[in-house]
Amino acid sequence: MTDFAATKALFDLPEGIVYLDGNSLGPLPKAAPARIAAMLTDEWGGMLITGWNKAGWMAQPMRLGDRIGRLIGAEPGHVTTGDTLSIKVYQALASALEMRKGRKVVLSDSGNFPSDLYMAEGLLRMMGGGHELRVVAPDEVEDHITDEVAVLMLTEVDYRTGRRHDMKRLTAKAHAAGALTVWDLAHSAGALPVDLSGCGADFAVGCTYKYLNAGPGGPAFIYVAPRHAGRAVPALSGWLGHEAPFAFDLGYRPGAGVDRMRVGTPPVIQMTALEVALDVWDMADIHDVRAKSIELTERFIAGIEAACPTLDLASPRDPALRGSQVSFRFAEGYAAMQALIARGVIGDFRAPDIMRFGFTPLYIDEGDVDRAIAIIADVMNSGAWDRAEYKTRAAVT
Ligand SMILES: *Cc1c(COP(=O)(O)O)cnc(C)c1O
Repeated sequence: MTDFAATKALFDLPEGIVYLDGNSLGPLPKAAPARIAAMLTDEWGGMLITGWNKAGWMAQPMRLGDRIGRLIGAEPGHVTTGDTLSIKVYQALASALEMRKGRKVVLSDSGNFPSDLYMAEGLLRMMGGGHELRVVAPDEVEDHITDEVAVLMLTEVDYRTGRRHDMKRLTAKAHAAGALTVWDLAHSAGALPVDLSGCGADFAVGCTYKYLNAGPGGPAFIYVAPRHAGRAVPALSGWLGHEAPFAFDLGYRPGAGVDRMRVGTPPVIQMTALEVALDVWDMADIHDVRAKSIELTERFIAGIEAACPTLDLASPRDPALRGSQVSFRFAEGYAAMQALIARGVIGDFRAPDIMRFGFTPLYIDEGDVDRAIAIIADVMNSGAWDRAEYKTRAAVT
């Protein structure tokens, strides 16, 4: 059984803050500053360019990929890390489309994160072959999986509402229709158990700065199923995805397996932060995290609904149908969230009216949930949010 008091002690959380935004940016692991400082001085400073070999920098993307792979049910050797999630979405979709050349439709849903849709739009425009990005309502996805569809591209957990797709069922349906799948695990990895192998997923991608706590700008990850790994054609054929980068051949030959999804020089400093953040998982079991997350979100929903009549639940009521966040609708949600942040309860706002709260059992406990409920009730019911200073929108919401 995971000792959540022990995992909480591994994070550096400012005094007096209830941090319900780890679904957007995870907090700082206490071990990170010293480890990053040592990497800077001992490895970069002391080893200079020999660090690529001596400190194992070049092998780090695959090593970290395997550690993430254990949390998402990937076969060993089939996940790598690097770049940003938007880039990994592009790569996965491009390779999947290449494997379904005769088909023209990419099916996604209106709950997907806009960057995934934008990357798909850009890719399809570049391909110039009359492809269509078909975006339907989340609950209509299943009915739109037809034999026109080349790729089903979905994010498992909706960033706004927390609604969760049934990955296994939709993957099976896509395969039955002859389509491939690209799953975005941005709000799944580190939040709930994922079984990529058991679901028969084709491609999956995700980021590490949300529930995996790798810090702002942490590298993304990409999974390619073993049956595709040796056939997937990389759209971004950079030198580190080449079979022999240091042969400096003029022509591109893809590397073995998922290695070919590497592009360029890995962000070693940021990878060090990810490495430390993943150490936390040596003490935590993802199934325990999920069970605890359900307890915390159920407690939060019950408390808010009892105390705050002006807030409407936007997340599915059945915990099996949502991820590890809870969202409420409120027309003046932006101002209300700024007022909460001023009182030490940090969540975030997603247009047009969603107040979003993430629950991360590694460092959030029942006491935090109860404190948050009391402060939210006070701010909402006293009208303390209704002030001009809370209504001016910052660049990042
Ligand atoms: C957070 C998130 C992103 C962000 O992509 P970056 O390239 O890392 O900025 C993309 N897609 C989804 C589904 C997300 O939740």
